[in-house]
Amino acid sequence: MRRLLRRAHHARALLHAARTVVVAAAMTCSMITSLGAQAAPVTVIRADRAIIGDGTQIASPLVFVQGERITAVGTAAQLRIPAGAKVIDLSGYTLMPGFMDAHTHLASIDNDGGDLAVLKETPAHGAIYATINAKKTLDAGFTTVREAGTTDYVDVVVRDAINRGLIPGPRIHASGPALGSTGGHADVNGWSPFLDIPGTGAIVDGVDAIRKQVRLNAKYGADQIKIVATGGILSVGDAVGAAQFDADELKAAVSEATRLGRKVMAHAHAGDGLKMAVLAGVASIEHGSLVDDEAIALMKAHGTYLVPTLIILEEIVTDGARKGVPPNSVAKATAIAAERRIRLRTAYQRGVKFALGTDATSDIHGRNGEEFKYMVDILGATPMESITIGTMNAATLLGVDKELGSVTTGKLADLVAVKGNPLTDIALLAHVQFVMKGGAVVKAP
Ligand SMILES: [Zn+2]
Repeated sequence: MRRLLRRAHHARALLHAARTVVVAAAMTCSMITSLGAQAAPVTVIRADRAIIGDGTQIASPLVFVQGERITAVGTAAQLRIPAGAKVIDLSGYTLMPGFMDAHTHLASIDNDGGDLAVLKETPAHGAIYATINAKKTLDAGFTTVREAGTTDYVDVVVRDAINRGLIPGPRIHASGPALGSTGGHADVNGWSPFLDIPGTGAIVDGVDAIRKQVRLNAKYGADQIKIVATGGILSVGDAVGAAQFDADELKAAVSEATRLGRKVMAHAHAGDGLKMAVLAGVASIEHGSLVDDEAIALMKAHGTYLVPTLIILEEIVTDGARKGVPPNSVAKATAIAAERRIRLRTAYQRGVKFALGTDATSDIHGRNGEEFKYMVDILGATPMESITIGTMNAATLLGVDKELGSVTTGKLADLVAVKGNPLTDIALLAHVQFVMKGGAVVKAP
C-alpha cells in the first residue's frame, strides 16, 4: 500500500514537473511571437482580383502577410509596398480565402477489398490513406476540413501530426468515430450473426450509451460529434429516410456535446430522423437529400446548416458502377437523384444556410473543388455565393470565422489562387495553382 502511495506521489511530482515545462515553453513561445511581430518580413501578394469570402471583391489587390497572419488588404492606391518586402506576383490570378470542406473522410481510399475491406484492413491502413489524402486535399486549395466520422481516431492523430509539422495537410476538425445505431448506416450489415464485425462508427443504443460515447470522443480529441440520424446510401438494409435514433437519443447527443463545448453534425437524408435532429439542436444536417418543406422551415427557424455533398451523390449515379460502388448503393442513389436536386435547390432558394461539403472518399480527395460547380448547377447559387458557401459559411459552421474564412486583416493567412476569373467560370476552382496556409506557401505556379 505504501509503495502504491509512493508511486502515486512520484507520478504527481512528474506531472507537476511536466506542467512546469509546458508553462515555461508557452512563455518562451509568446515572448518570441511578441518580439517577432516587428521583425517578421512582409510578403506582399499581388493579383488581378481578390474575392474576400463575404460576397465582396477587390480589383488589383495587394495582400500583406506577416508571419502566419494577413496584416493588410487593399489596393495599390491605398497601400505602399515596404522596402525589402517579398512580392508574390499573381497577375492574371484570382486570390481567395483557403477553401473549406465541411464533410470529408480522409482515411477512406479506393481499395480492392470492397465489402471485405473491413476484414482485411487495420487502423494503420487508415492512417496511411489519411496522410496521402491530407496532402491531396491541401494541394487542391482546401486549407480546412471537417472530418465526418473516422474509425480508430485516425483523424485526431493525423490532425495532430499536421499541427506538429510532421506531415502536410489542412487544418482538421476531427470527429473520431460517428455515433450510429445497431443495424444502421454506421453498422456493417448483411453478415452472419455469428461473426463479430465492428461497425464503421461507434455502435451505441440508448441515451446512456450515447452520452458515454460523446464523452469518449471528447476525451480522445474530437472537435465535434458526428451522429447518424437516418439511413444512408452506401449501406445495406436501411432506407435513406428511416430514422435511426429516437428524439431522446438525439437530444442526449446534443446536450452532452454542448456541455463539452462541441457542435453536432448529423447525417440525415430525409424524413422524421432529419427533423428530430434539427429539433435536437444539431449544427448541421449532412446530405439532406430529400429535405421536405416542413424540414426546410425548421432548419431556417433553428439556423441549422445544410451540407449537401453534391459531388459524391452525383458521381454515384453517373459513375458509381464503373468505380465499383455496390449495385444496391447505385440503385439507392439513382432512385432519389432527380428529386434530391429539386429538394436541395428548394432549400437553398428558400434561405437555408449552406456550407460546402463533398463527403470526399475514394477518388474524390483532391477533387473537392469540383463541388463549387455542382452548387452553381444544382442549387442555383451564383459563383460568388458558391465561393462564400465554401469559405465564410463553412468557417462560421465550424466556429472559426474569427480566424479564417475571409481575406481580412488580422486573420490567419490561408489563401488560394486560380488563374482567370472563377466568377465567369466556376469550374476553375477545381484547378487551384497557389496555396498558402498560415503564411507558408504550400504550392505556387
Ligand atoms: Zn460522410
